[in-house]
Amino acid sequence: MSRRIAIIGAGPSGMAQLRAFASAAAQQAEIPEIVCFEKQSDWGGQWNYTWRTGLDEHSEPVHSSMYRHLWSNGPKECLEFADYTFDEHFGRPISSYPPRAVLWDYINGRVHHAELVPGRLLKDAVRFSTAVRQVSSHSERGYLLTSEHLPTGQQSTEHFDAVVVACGHFSYPHIPAFEGIKTFPGPVTHAHDFRGAESLAGKDVLIIGGSYSAEDIGIQAHKLGAASVTFSVRTQPMGFGWPDTLQEWPLVERFTGSTTHFLDGRTRSFDAVVLATGYRHHFPFLAPELRLVTANTLYPDGLYKGVVFEGARDLYFLGMQDQWFTFNMFDAQAWFVRDLILQRAVLPDPQSQRRDIQTWLTRLKSVQSVREDVQFQADYIADLIELTDYPSFDLDTVVETFLAWKQDKKENILTYRDRCYRSVMTGTLAAPHHTPWMEAFDDSVEEYLREDSSPRYSALSSLTRQ
Ligand code: FAD
Ligand code: NAP
Ligand code: MG
Repeated sequence: MSRRIAIIGAGPSGMAQLRAFASAAAQQAEIPEIVCFEKQSDWGGQWNYTWRTGLDEHSEPVHSSMYRHLWSNGPKECLEFADYTFDEHFGRPISSYPPRAVLWDYINGRVHHAELVPGRLLKDAVRFSTAVRQVSSHSERGYLLTSEHLPTGQQSTEHFDAVVVACGHFSYPHIPAFEGIKTFPGPVTHAHDFRGAESLAGKDVLIIGGSYSAEDIGIQAHKLGAASVTFSVRTQPMGFGWPDTLQEWPLVERFTGSTTHFLDGRTRSFDAVVLATGYRHHFPFLAPELRLVTANTLYPDGLYKGVVFEGARDLYFLGMQDQWFTFNMFDAQAWFVRDLILQRAVLPDPQSQRRDIQTWLTRLKSVQSVREDVQFQADYIADLIELTDYPSFDLDTVVETFLAWKQDKKENILTYRDRCYRSVMTGTLAAPHHTPWMEAFDDSVEEYLREDSSPRYSALSSLTRQ
């Protein structure tokens, strides 16, 4: 009987796993039966936007944390697939920071027409609107997986020889409590439930957190007319050159009604609070002994090569790292997992796996700068690509692009998305978008790709990096 492989989730990681198998199939490899379970009605994971918050139409926790006016927060040149370029998809240069819908279009474009076996689309391997409820080890070998078709409530339990967990880790919010917060009279929302800043116009907004969500939701609020934005940061201030109405304050100590008390003794009154306090790796569908337990880090302990679960056979996790790199890192991981499943690659003994993990963890501890941090993930990806036939690409130049991006943000946090970078895959220089990001309010695919407008930049060359 043919082996059966389960993939849990059809976000960018699960889609990378499907693509990896399709690419082996195109080279005449014999592919086991693949079943991908996706609880949403379409693929794309976080990039599959929903207006819903809390529970969805089936009373399932809503997955995506993205919002209406979300644009890429890093240059697209850093996440480009090595086997499907932006040029191939769009047929002409586009800007470096596309909006959410445009990136969904790109990841969908790579797999939309792909076939796993002749005449059978890759998409047919995905069971949509189907949530994985439970995965446990089977006594002999492999796993028993129970899934539920959400529209009908029908459950089925099946045997799989291997399981690839690709459910993402930015979906279950981390929600710390603050003294007196229940007396705050305005809305208190976690970033996971933030869908747009329109309702914050004219308001004094408090955002707790000092990372990407805090930064971008703060800028969204500013862009859509908030009276002021105060970031409350626990550890490291972001330190951007904020406009006057945006400020960084220390951590909140407590709330008394709408008055917020900060650790430095200052107080201030707000209309709304956003908790941009991050997410939890949470796997309610896995038997406890199969769960990865980790914080958001570049090298979760317990995963050989960042993907092979140490505690059980034939169990893999994709995309569980903190992310500088995204789509092309998921590809490198998926190609390696594919090769293990196809027995093209061989796992070393457990002691060697542990030594390899330990080497990475030791190196991670010694990281002292942003450059070393980005280089760490680049080297991790290079290590994986070395082991597979995923096309290798110039990771060192991508590291430089990340560092230039950090510098752009330091120079101007409101205009960094207007900069243009060069693809390491094709050499193509991004084209400036027809509208500066701060003035772009319609971020549909149609508006983004509209060609009939002349660019409204006054100094194009100053925005273009070679
Ligand atoms: P996800 O995209 O989270 O996909 C996981 C999939 O698994 C989902 O479709 C979900 O429905 C499914 N699933 C989960 N549980 C189950 C279950 N039990 N049964 C069945 N299906 C299940 N990255 C960038 O490169 N650029 C950006 O600008 C960017 N912006 C981001 C903004 C936000 C607000 C967030 C939260 C993340 C952002 N990211 C960005 C990072 C993002 O995590 C990755 O781009 C990417 O989406 C991760 O892919 P994934 O497949 O690992 O996980
Ligand atoms: P994150 O990077 O994990 O950051 C979590 C933040 O919460 C940290 O600043 C942390 O501070 C803070 N925090 C946690 N507990 C706290 C507490 N008790 N009190 C105060 N602060 C606390 O999570 P994220 O910012 O949500 O980013 C998640 C992902 O989404 C990233 O990959 C990011 O790139 C992506 N994203 C992208 C966009 C976009 O524009 N495209 C927008 C938003 C998010 P400490 O440092 O003190 O722990
Ligand atoms: Mg190779």
